[in-house]
Amino acid sequence: MRTGIEVVQIDTDVLIIGGGLAGCMAAIKASEYGVKVTIAEKANTLSSGCAGTGVDHAWAYIPLIHEQMGWTIEDLIEDHTQLIARGFINKDLLRLVARENYDRMLDLEKFGVKIRYEDSQIPGKFRIVHQFHTMPSSFNFDGYDLKIKLTREAKRRGVDIVNRVMMVALLVTDGQAAGALGVGTNDGRLYSFQAKTFVMSTGRANRLTPSVTGVWGNHRIPVNETGDGRAMAFRAGLPVINMEFLSSGYYSIGNYELNLGSPRNTVQPAAAVTDADGETIVPRTQFYDWPNLGKEKVDATLNRQKMLSGGRNARPSYAQLYRQGEGPFYLDLTGGTEEEIKYIEWSIRNEGKGSLFLDYLKNQEGFDFRKDRLEWLPNSREMAGTAASGLVVNNDLESEVRGLFGAGDDVGGVPWAGAPGAFTMGWRAGERAAKEARAQQDYLPVNADSVESLKESCSGMLASKNGRHWREVEMAVQNVVDYYAGEVRAEKTLRRGLERLDNIKKNASFRAENPHELMRCLEVQSIIDNAGMVLNASLERRESRHMPFGFLRADFPEQNDKEWLAFLALRKKEEKLEFSRIPIKQ
Ligand SMILES: Cc1cc2nc3c(=O)[nH]c(=O)nc-3n(C[C@H](O)[C@H](O)[C@H](O)COP(=O)(O)OP(=O)(O)OC[C@H]3O[C@@H](n4cnc5c(N)ncnc54)[C@H](O)[C@@H]3O)c2cc1C
Repeated sequence: MRTGIEVVQIDTDVLIIGGGLAGCMAAIKASEYGVKVTIAEKANTLSSGCAGTGVDHAWAYIPLIHEQMGWTIEDLIEDHTQLIARGFINKDLLRLVARENYDRMLDLEKFGVKIRYEDSQIPGKFRIVHQFHTMPSSFNFDGYDLKIKLTREAKRRGVDIVNRVMMVALLVTDGQAAGALGVGTNDGRLYSFQAKTFVMSTGRANRLTPSVTGVWGNHRIPVNETGDGRAMAFRAGLPVINMEFLSSGYYSIGNYELNLGSPRNTVQPAAAVTDADGETIVPRTQFYDWPNLGKEKVDATLNRQKMLSGGRNARPSYAQLYRQGEGPFYLDLTGGTEEEIKYIEWSIRNEGKGSLFLDYLKNQEGFDFRKDRLEWLPNSREMAGTAASGLVVNNDLESEVRGLFGAGDDVGGVPWAGAPGAFTMGWRAGERAAKEARAQQDYLPVNADSVESLKESCSGMLASKNGRHWREVEMAVQNVVDYYAGEVRAEKTLRRGLERLDNIKKNASFRAENPHELMRCLEVQSIIDNAGMVLNASLERRESRHMPFGFLRADFPEQNDKEWLAFLALRKKEEKLEFSRIPIKQ
């Protein structure tokens, strides 16, 4: 029986919790201020997080291109606000992303990421494609090894990277972040960090519902992203927003759970969605006719009006069509030219497991985009993209706990911030955290009881013979969320879901055979906290918020902007839940 757990003490100036895109960018920037910077990462920064298998699109305001077309940053902000978020967005944070991502792309280039192409006719030699704005706004680039390049840059600048540590607790002293605790996922040791400032950047909250494929962990979002940042913040009494927007499954390449979520993305420009008879549901686009487009002055307002009234970006709800007896649906590139298909294959290879997918399709299924269509199936429900759930931060990314900053997908309020959100927020959070750390003389004391209590609970799980296996508990939680916070929600069912979740929690005494299983148990504890937030927030939001949020309350079927055009924040106060509404600036 294991009785003692060794404690490793690490002191640093800035501690970055989660070394994904945002965390690496924060560390790189923070390193410019002469402070000691440490990343605590659950996996390995070389390949961890949503971008671990590549990202290939990043939207930005690109002065070189947009100024010439008469398109302003405010146009981009308005586009994003209207088309992507339907007015439900934190505009200040959106402004940060819109303003700064171009510079971050140029920084990435300095770190070795290829963003320019000889064959491009576009100013700057960039590859710019349709994504979701009315204007061409998205870099398409070689992002498959982004994490390797960011890790290399961080190390070159002296950042200390502690891999294979799952952070589980944030320690607050007198309203200021003072320490954080983690558990080694390989060595089983307890890591106790003291720092002057902190950046929370643990990414998304996954595994809240089962994978549609029935295979455990087969999600588009990395399996180890279990909303730990939100859970740590919530346990420390901080507010978390937008947890009700656990979205229903999009249709995409469901059985592969890739990032081909929309024909307006990686499969640009030739992808259409067609039905069983070959009828078009979503028409294909074209490469931009750049020499002509670039010269035009463009009326962004008019474009936006056209799109909102059902133009190119009006995404159909496949789930809704399916319920009306439509389908099956197919991703259809058969109308593409050879040049287009080659381009799309390059793009797919740069993003989320794309190479594996293409090779599998070609080599094992004899599939060819030139003549075969790929069935479009539902993928798992996600807390991502439109959901924009997470910590509440100010314009400097600081939370209400002094010295705790948030960045990337761990921050709530900007739907489809994606990689640009991670680059820009990470950079800003890193800068602010470093400056504040530099100004602070000493560490704050931390409560020694928290170390003891984590030690005790971990040794309990490692020593237990009769505790429950993490997977059993996870399945129970996933079933509860899937059923009671499903596509349509209502008060009585949500209340019942909460009762059942409470039961699961009471009976969840875990057993772990080794440090890896210990990590899984701790992850399931995060999933339970996140599930509680989803159910409680769904119960509290007494309205429906349709496209693109897909939040349906059968007992409040109408959208009620008068009362609910606000972020719903929930937090724990003296073991009770407290809700508040944060008004959304228009
Ligand atoms: C398959 C896929 C493809 C995508 N493609 C694009 C794209 O082309 N363009 C785009 O704009 N966006 C894309 N996105 C979204 C984009 O990748 C994310 O928005 C971005 O990576 C968010 O950065 P982040 O740092 O907040 O989170 P991540 O990059 O996901 O990193 C979070 C990090 O935190 C670590 N972590 C988690 N929990 C803990 C813990 N408890 N302790 C320590 N560390 C922890 C994780 O291991 C991970 O390294 C894609 C997403 C997916 C899933």
